[in-house]
Amino acid sequence: MQTIAVIGGGFAGTAAVRRLERELPADCEVVLFSAENFMIYTPLLPEVVGASLLPGHAVAPLRQMLGRARYYRAQVEAIDLRQRVIHYRCRGLHHLSFDHLVLAIGKVADIGIAEGMQGHGLPLKTLGDALHIRNRIIVRLEQAELERDPDVRRTLTTFIVVGGGSSGIEVAGAIADFLRAAGKFYPLTEPLDARVILLESSDRLAPEFPASLGEAALQDMRRGGVEVHLNARVSSVTPQGVKAESGEWVRGGNVICTIGTKPNPLLQALDLPRQKGLIRTAADMSVPGREGVWAIGDCAAVINAHNGEPSPPMAQYAVRQGEQVADNIARAVRGKGSRPFRYRSRGHLASIGHHRAIAHVFGIRLGGFPAWLLWRAVYLSMTPTFLRKLQVFSEWNLDLLFPRDTTQLHIARTRVERPAGEAALQGDPDPGPGKAASG
Ligand SMILES: Cc1cc2nc3c(=O)[nH]c(=O)nc-3n(C[C@H](O)[C@H](O)[C@H](O)COP(=O)(O)OP(=O)(O)OC[C@H]3O[C@@H](n4cnc5c(N)ncnc54)[C@H](O)[C@@H]3O)c2cc1C
Repeated sequence: MQTIAVIGGGFAGTAAVRRLERELPADCEVVLFSAENFMIYTPLLPEVVGASLLPGHAVAPLRQMLGRARYYRAQVEAIDLRQRVIHYRCRGLHHLSFDHLVLAIGKVADIGIAEGMQGHGLPLKTLGDALHIRNRIIVRLEQAELERDPDVRRTLTTFIVVGGGSSGIEVAGAIADFLRAAGKFYPLTEPLDARVILLESSDRLAPEFPASLGEAALQDMRRGGVEVHLNARVSSVTPQGVKAESGEWVRGGNVICTIGTKPNPLLQALDLPRQKGLIRTAADMSVPGREGVWAIGDCAAVINAHNGEPSPPMAQYAVRQGEQVADNIARAVRGKGSRPFRYRSRGHLASIGHHRAIAHVFGIRLGGFPAWLLWRAVYLSMTPTFLRKLQVFSEWNLDLLFPRDTTQLHIARTRVERPAGEAALQGDPDPGPGKAASG
């Protein structure tokens, strides 16, 4: 029996495992490691921030997405590439030998892009990040209701989004929508106090799109109430606001940083060929000099044979690479040759709030409401699991009829003083505030 281990339950790893389940002979074992037991559908995170979607609806349970593969909810701590062994932690350190290894561990957020950003900026990468920003917006509105100093009130309810790429414009649009919809429940806060400011370092928004769509996004966002500052590269951040390199000072007590990533720390100790910190692969996504080791998704530098360019860090590329690497492994197991990664992008879509979006799909450019409808249709069709599709569809429709939910989803637990060692004995993975994690 051969063991194919996949590390990472994101877009790339999940796509690989699902295809491996189908393509591999029955005597091959597939094991998926992932630190969380769900897959995050990141395109919906801005919707979580804007409270048009419940946090649980932007993720899908891995076990329910898989068939015969075995799933280990565990943190991989080290990999011995010579002995071909994975060391993972789940209530102690364990080991698994592999014949083929697929690295699909993505990247991690790194918001240290400007002085003070680490201390005061809010990253958006995980489900927890999205929930935290949603809660921050609601808490700030609650605080502003009780604040009589207009300057402080304005600082509390000004939200500065850093980065005018797809994620940045989606988040800024989602926050503006939320503030507009929730405003009536905060009668003492002046509508003009609650502001959303988008800062972009270059001279245009959405560089992933043609310039005309970047311009359309700029105009639509300004009409939707978002203040957009172009050529505004952040140099420092304080609790009161942001300073740009030009010397411009932007006042606001909440800074959301949608840019900045770094390679996964697991890669640090691995002797693998690198390109800008990512794993450099051959055309078929195998790692040169490491037989049976493959790398896909955001953690890998994969050249697309379709145009000879590096694959961008996007979900659609991660999914195709996952499927293609599974085909290549299945061929290798049967003693056949592998094929290069070749993918023609379908295009890009980004919602910008106010029921508007921009879309560049199969060469066609679209903006405004039609693009927003297309955005919703495409992302709904790609949402994992049928149940999630239903939930997202009904939540989106309810959102058109009912006011936004202003509940602060604060996960406060009763503080229990447990005797020393008790948590470890019970194997509690989350022993609660102020206590060290065990197991
Ligand atoms: C807010 C936001 C919005 C986005 N919107 C879009 C969009 O609209 N369209 C688009 O194409 N792309 C979008 N992206 C980019 C897209 O999310 C990434 O390109 C995609 O997630 C990459 O997939 P991946 O599988 O390589 O990595 P990830 O999705 O990051 O998955 C990595 C997985 O590895 C696991 N892992 C990491 N280290 C370990 C370890 N040591 N042990 C065990 N498990 C581990 C993690 O838990 C995670 O499950 C967005 C990203 C963000 C942050």
